[in-house]
Amino acid sequence: MPVNVSTWRERAAQLAPESRAFIDGTYVEALSGAQFDNVNPATGRVIGRISAGDASDIERAVAAARAAFEKGAWSRTKPSHRKKVLSAFAQSILAHRDELALLETLDMGKPITDSLKVDIPGAARAIQWYAEAVDKIYDEVAPTGPEALALVTREPIGVVGAIVPWNFPLVMAAWKIGPVLAAGNSLVLKPSEKSPLTAIRVAQLAIEAGLPPGVFNVVPGYGHTAGKALALSMDVGAIAFTGSTATGKLVMQYAAQSNMKRVSLECGGKSPNIVLADYPDLERAATAAAYAIFFNQGEMCSAGSRLLVQRAARDAVLGKVAEIGRAMAPGDPLDPATKLGAIVDETQMKRVLGYIDTGREEGARIALGGRRVREETGGYFVEPTVFDGVERGMRVAREEIFGPVLATITFDTVEQAIEIANDVDYGLAAAIWTRDVTTAHRTARALRAGTVYVNCYDADDITVPFGGFKQSGIGRDKSLHAFDKYTELKTTWLDLS
Ligand code: NAD
Repeated sequence: MPVNVSTWRERAAQLAPESRAFIDGTYVEALSGAQFDNVNPATGRVIGRISAGDASDIERAVAAARAAFEKGAWSRTKPSHRKKVLSAFAQSILAHRDELALLETLDMGKPITDSLKVDIPGAARAIQWYAEAVDKIYDEVAPTGPEALALVTREPIGVVGAIVPWNFPLVMAAWKIGPVLAAGNSLVLKPSEKSPLTAIRVAQLAIEAGLPPGVFNVVPGYGHTAGKALALSMDVGAIAFTGSTATGKLVMQYAAQSNMKRVSLECGGKSPNIVLADYPDLERAATAAAYAIFFNQGEMCSAGSRLLVQRAARDAVLGKVAEIGRAMAPGDPLDPATKLGAIVDETQMKRVLGYIDTGREEGARIALGGRRVREETGGYFVEPTVFDGVERGMRVAREEIFGPVLATITFDTVEQAIEIANDVDYGLAAAIWTRDVTTAHRTARALRAGTVYVNCYDADDITVPFGGFKQSGIGRDKSLHAFDKYTELKTTWLDLS
């Protein structure tokens, strides 16, 4: 039976989320006793107080992870056993879908329908996929000749630290949890201080599914304390980071200052969505362009935040994008009909509004939106906003805003579009809409981005790698390639002469 907004509100009122760190198989307060407020961005009200882990808690969690790794109950178990446990974990996430979706929505403001249909199933699918993969991967025998047998094997790194953002809290964590654990590592996960609830909750589900204590630990806390300590730890062999480019650069420094741990970074984007006038269904392209920037309140690393539209198609595309944006007015995230929820917190909302002011000052024209709305709720809502007449040098054309703000740039030739598209520091995603197969292929090759969509946007599957060129990051999440980040290659040379 479909659940309506009143039911979700009742469930929310009854919820008492777990707020402590999860270390060595049990929930514990931070050693310092410190806590921070967890705020519902749709109301501005405090949901609860979360344990604020710091360096001492990270040390405790890393020690538990190391001890579990050395003990071998997970790291040296059969892949088929890891498959069984991780599959049970994924199924348990699905079985707790409503509860986890509610936590996600209350924590970061996304519409409940998205949490239910996208986030929670997406997280479960990622873990399930790596569970199923792990007993199907073979190691190698090198073609050295008859005098030797050279084995090339993959081994877990040891303790992996994962630091994740708030925009897809559980999905971003699951993209790390799946391959890290499937490969036999132990994990210390530091969720964002803005959205720690689902990570804290699923740690318990993992233990119930059969993961030995100490293999999966969660330490909530601030980035400059807990996150920094994890990245500086001498006993962490790899850091898997998702977040902003600025923080990613710090994580690289911490690795260099400590033990030269392996660093993988999934960072920001300013992705171009190029629409050519020859594309036969401009309405479809415009609809995708609207969702590419307004879905998840625009808080998407791969958001199509720059719409590059060929002059002849400009009016048709812009008109449709504005029409869809108008129909996506922000609403209560607990209402199943809501398509656009709240911005994650007041700081982020002010940042988004600041960029809207900047765009105006730079001379771009507001074609839609531009304001904070629903202020009376106490929440942080920004209406879908479209800038027209954007020039490539403007800050709104170059910097990641991470909100529902689209910068529209008009061009004349495909060559111009490619040049503008590549003229930013980022290279996460890009799209090209055209009916011409040669133009599609040539443009896809010329675009400097980790993912190029042709005649679609944000198509997604766990089977394909995801990550960035340039300052959008280093390394790839998803697909079998993710194992490269969490395993060491070992050569064992046997002399047969
Ligand atoms: P952020 O960089 O502020 O924080 C990300 C994580 O890093 C958080 O857990 C935070 O606590 C932690 N952190 C902050 N300072 C730290 C420090 N000094 N040392 C260690 N850890 C620290 O990013 P955010 O605002 O949470 O997330 C938004 C960003 O994430 C955007 O730039 C977005 O594009 C990016 N993102 C990228 C991808 C991708 O796959 N490429 C996916 C989602 C989000």
